[in-house]
Amino acid sequence: MIPKITFEEHFMAPGFEKHSAAFLKLIPEAHARELTRRLDDFGGERIELMDRYGITRSVLSLTGPGPQGELPELAAEAAKGANDFLAEKIAPLSSRLSGLAALPMHDPELAAAELRRAVTELGFLGCLANSPVHGRYFDAPEYDAFWAEVEALGVPFYLHPSNARAAPPVFADMPVLQGATWGWGVDTGSHALRLLFSGVFDRFPGVKLVLGHMGEALPYLRWRFDSRFGAYPMGVELKLKPSQYFTRNILITTTGVCSHAALIGALGEMGPEGVMFSIDYPYEDTATAAEFIESAPMDAATRAMVCHDNAARLLGLPLLAEAA
Ligand code: MN
Repeated sequence: MIPKITFEEHFMAPGFEKHSAAFLKLIPEAHARELTRRLDDFGGERIELMDRYGITRSVLSLTGPGPQGELPELAAEAAKGANDFLAEKIAPLSSRLSGLAALPMHDPELAAAELRRAVTELGFLGCLANSPVHGRYFDAPEYDAFWAEVEALGVPFYLHPSNARAAPPVFADMPVLQGATWGWGVDTGSHALRLLFSGVFDRFPGVKLVLGHMGEALPYLRWRFDSRFGAYPMGVELKLKPSQYFTRNILITTTGVCSHAALIGALGEMGPEGVMFSIDYPYEDTATAAEFIESAPMDAATRAMVCHDNAARLLGLPLLAEAA
């Protein structure tokens, strides 16, 4: 088995259980109990599964909605508490587990300060935030201070789905389409396109935005973004073609899409350096994901990049050749 790094892997911090209660009531009780147990576990089954499937390092993030579900005035303290909790939990397992910071994204200045604290004091490797925050998106001008900090620290920003505040009319009356099946991807993919078309990546060319779920389907429309933006720019000016921000600024993980055809399509659009393996533990099955990537039709060099070295480079970890 090839060594793997995974980094859309979740845990639960004290005080955030209330946000998951409604979701857990909707699913079978045994599954809800298993999810809860796995989210609370750090050194037990989590490490056993990593060992069994060749995952050398797992980078953990607070399960959604995290601080994005808190009232604005409580979000900064809540994020700090979650980050301190994670740091304490992973300290004895530091050879296998790392952290991504939870951030109070309601307030760009406080979010930037907490990111800096988490990276420089707690040793976290980046951050993960859930989209959106009370109807606000991170392309708003006041977020420039935040993006400047992300760029200065040189750490990735993982944009993760969450329940949108208001579903678009086309699925407002269809709850089955509002969540992970479709609506989350629409919201999160659209959020990433807002960042691209508002020029965040022109102003902060060093920012690395990571999307899960095979890029929330964006890689498949990359050609069309150039074609239709070229035809109808609507007054927007960008330094590059939309497609050129993919892989330079927008990178993707394979979480929750264990399809070889989709993977090959994504590799074709993004290039082998733009696609990274991850699982979305405990919401997705480790065995399914690991077997999918081990059996994917890729050459050895591509498999090494997708499973390990792209993430290692992004997160500042040793490459396979350095670890050998
Ligand atoms: Mn996830």
